[in-house]
Amino acid sequence: MDDELKCPVCGQFYFEERDDYDLCPVCGWFNDGFQKEYPDKLGCNHRTLNEHREQWKNGTLPDYIYDLIEQNKDRLPSK
Ligand SMILES: [Zn+2]
Repeated sequence: MDDELKCPVCGQFYFEERDDYDLCPVCGWFNDGFQKEYPDKLGCNHRTLNEHREQWKNGTLPDYIYDLIEQNKDRLPSK
């Protein structure tokens, strides 16, 4: 697998393309290449990459993110 495509937040999901704005069904991160390059800037996600990583780790993401994760859980790769 190409590490370039790995979710920069959880590292447990691979996007299909760099920068395709797809949602990671594990952590709710939108695949924004700009934010990946500048982890302290805002973009398609309403929090920075560093903030999202911290909030995901602590379980303090906004509720709508957990809703999105729930709605997308059938996209998780089967083990
Ligand atoms: Zn993720």
